Amino acid sequence: MEATKITPKEFIDYECQHSRAAKNEWVYSINPEFSKYRINSSEFLAKEVYPTYRVDESGEKLTTVYEDKKAIPITFTKLSARKELVSSLLSDGYESNNDTVVAYHCTKCCVWVIKDGIHRLITWSVNGENRIITVYQVSSCDWSRACVDMPNYCKCSNK
Ligand SMILES: [Zn+2]
Repeated sequence: MEATKITPKEFIDYECQHSRAAKNEWVYSINPEFSKYRINSSEFLAKEVYPTYRVDESGEKLTTVYEDKKAIPITFTKLSARKELVSSLLSDGYESNNDTVVAYHCTKCCVWVIKDGIHRLITWSVNGENRIITVYQVSSCDWSRACVDMPNYCKCSNK
């Protein structure tokens, strides 16, 4: 896997077109770096990669409410094993053949949060499909000023 450095503009253009929620949270990160790379989806999901869906306090439902501080992050790998949680997600009508995802990455605690492409990654993961995907990534070693999704995943921020 070879990452290519891209300009903030290239990242912004892609993110604005594709990501529906919480755009540009990276503006609060320190010295963000932007890159783009191709990787096998299974290799990518073997890392600590999270959807912006978390498991709510009951442990039985997914939530996208980032303000919910009691919800628990669940990786794609763990989520794909929870068929009852995944089924609601996969039946909500989002389908796309796009092979590109948007990832926010903390280089310090090594977590990735997917801002676009969640349904596709989950579908492939559940079906055991290994695809070559393109990742648009913004990386920073400091997300402590971020205030949407990242505080719910980054283990170094707000602590
Ligand atoms: Zn972190």
